[in-house]
This record gives sequence, structure tokens and C-alpha cells, in this order.
Amino acid sequence: MSAQQPTDSIFSQLDAYGHKKVVFCSDPDTGLKAIIAIHDTTLGPAFGSTRMWTYRSEAEALYDVLRLSKSMTYKCAVAGLNMGGAYSVIIGDSRRDKTEAMMRKFGRFIKNLNGEFITSEDVGTSPRDMEYIRMETEHVTGIPESLGGSGDPGPVAAKGVLMGIKAAVREMYGNDTITGRSVIVQGIGHVGETLVKLLRDENAKVYVSDINEDKLRQVSKKYGAEAVSNNSIFDIDADIYSPCALGATINTQTIAKLKVGIIAGSANNQLQDEEEHGKMLLEKGILFAPDYVINAGGIINCYSELQGYSKRRTMQLTENIYEATRNVLKLSKAENISTIEAANKIAEKRIADIRKVKSTY
Ligand code: NAD
Repeated sequence: MSAQQPTDSIFSQLDAYGHKKVVFCSDPDTGLKAIIAIHDTTLGPAFGSTRMWTYRSEAEALYDVLRLSKSMTYKCAVAGLNMGGAYSVIIGDSRRDKTEAMMRKFGRFIKNLNGEFITSEDVGTSPRDMEYIRMETEHVTGIPESLGGSGDPGPVAAKGVLMGIKAAVREMYGNDTITGRSVIVQGIGHVGETLVKLLRDENAKVYVSDINEDKLRQVSKKYGAEAVSNNSIFDIDADIYSPCALGATINTQTIAKLKVGIIAGSANNQLQDEEEHGKMLLEKGILFAPDYVINAGGIINCYSELQGYSKRRTMQLTENIYEATRNVLKLSKAENISTIEAANKIAEKRIADIRKVKSTY
């Protein structure tokens, strides 16, 4: 996506990313300072999580929310969901500054958008915060199961990542059998741990790494995975590298070291620079299953919640990630373009097609 900088003027950033609407929410009584960015609503109401983070500046917060919301538009489009893309950020320290009143006030801002924006939890927000927002507006998902919600989306996201891995394995090796394949899972949190379980259930050889040493010991023992240090993961000879922690782990330095055939994981924005590093992977013959295509299980879970949650329907939609990934990989091969470029093309085409449908009788 476009290489805008946080220092560019607000309207030039909105133009470059193609945003429809950005709402600045300020409430001195509760200390709320938030930005809701609605990128595109062609496919339906805009969906996006709410992140609370200690941004160093307002410009940095705006930059983050614009990038995240555009990715959501593309994620929904490729997953075949009838939802547009948005995101919101709250500026502040979630451990120190967050209160019930702040979250409920934020809920009132969402309410005033009359369903144009629907949110869920992210870094710095929790199901409890979604309950507070729910007290003010119905336009929120990620509510606990005990309150009729869909609960933790992590395991669904993990299932989707497994589908993406299988599609990539098929493209690379001719069949989608995971048995005997070796996978490095970096980050064993909500998504990563379930992914380790699913891979071990199919007898894959799994390496795990995490900065949390206790968790690393516990997960490696529980599933029979080999614990490795975070520094050594790029030296391991394996079939698949699955980043399930942070973004931007794929960059010029790590691409030079990587000894895997496939990259497929849940972390958002894995490529430090989409264009440059997407091309480098293509040239090196490493198959990259684009993050936003294969990590759509989380959003699919929220989408199902909005439609009256059904586990069966959620799993069906999540299994479609296999075909969605295959389509991306086929287009990349046919046009000799990076897989991220292929995914973007598919997303943009669907949005353009549906825009035409909606603009004609
Ligand atoms: P999480 O916070 O539960 O787990 C992340 C894990 O990564 C933690 O165990 C943490 O200790 C570890 N970690 C952090 N920095 C690390 C590092 N440098 N090296 C190794 N391990 C490190 O998060 P999650 O919900 O499992 O999400 C993981 C990633 O997937 C995130 O990038 C998230 O944005 C993305 N994602 C999550 C979902 C979901 O439904 N949870 C859906 C789509 C995408």
C-alpha cells in the first residue's frame, strides 16, 4: 500500500489511502482522544477493531489508523464478506488511562455513526471493554460467549491460518499434506498456540518461539514442539515460517537469512515494505501467503456474530480461506507478480465490481 508518511498533511493522507470519512473523538471529562477511520463502505458497513496505544504523537496515531483501516477493506473483500473496512485508535496507556466511562463515551461516538462503523477488540482493549461499548451501542462484536457473543476469535483465526498454510503447501509441493512438514511458529498466544495444536494433530514437526519463557516451556511440552530461541528462528531449515506475534518481521535482513519455502502466519502487516519485500520474496522463490488473506478467521468470527452466531457457518467461511489463498497464489504465478500484489488486485476488483452493481438499477 501507498508509502505515506505521518508528517504528510491530513487531507493528502486521506486522499492517498482513499478514505471516506475520519472522525476525531474528544472528551475531556473522560480523557478520551480517539480517531475512527472509515475507509470504504462499498461492500457493507465498515468493520474494524479498536486499538488503545501510547502513540508518540497524534500524527502517528492517524498514520496507524489510516493504514489499518485500509487493510480491513482489503481483508473483508478477499474473504468474500459483505463488510467495508475501518479501524479506530484510542490514544493513551490502556493499563493506566482506560476507564468504564471512557469506553462508554467512545461507545456513544460509535452510536452516533448509526451503524456505519462496527468495532471489536484489539491490542489494548478487551472483551470487558466491548461490554462497556455495548452498553451504549449495538454496533460492537467480540462480546463474551456468556453474553451471547462469539468469544475468543483466536482459535478461528488459527484454523484460517492452517487453511492458508495448506493452500501454500499444495502450491509448492503439489499436495496439501502437512504430515512430516516442518513449521516454525513465532509467537504462541491466542492464535499461535491453537495453530501449534492443529499442526501437531496432523503430525507436523513444529518449532516454537516466544519472548515469554514460561509459555514457551509450557506449550512446547504440552504439544511436543521444539522450543527455539527467538534469535535463531531465521537460521532454521524448515518448510514453513509462521509469524504469529508482531508485524514487519519480514524485511531485507530476515529475507537474506530465511531458509524456508513458505511464509504463512497470522501477524498483521508482516512485510516491512509491501512492495519491496513482496518482490524480494518472489525473486527468492519464497511463497508468501499474504497475511490479511489467511488471518481473516478473526474477522469472520465477528461477522458471524453480527449475523446471529453459528459455529458451523463460521467454520465454513473460515475453510473458504483455502480457496481464497489458492486464487491469490494462482494469480501471482500467472502474472509473475508478488502474492501481496495479487491479493490487492483481487480485493480491488471485487470492490469495483460490487460498486458497479450498486450504482446500477
Ligand atoms: P497474543 O498477544 O495473544 O500473542 C502474541 C504472542 O507473541 C505472545 O505470546 C507474545 O509473548 C509473543 N511475542 C510478542 N513479541 C514477540 C517476539 N518478538 N517474538 C516472539 N514472540 C513474541 O496475540 P494473538 O491474538 O495471538 O495475535 C497474534 C498476531 O496475529 C497479532 O499480530 C495479531 O494482530 C494477529 N491476528 C490475531 C487475530 C486474533 O483473532 N487474535 C486475528 C487476526 C490477526
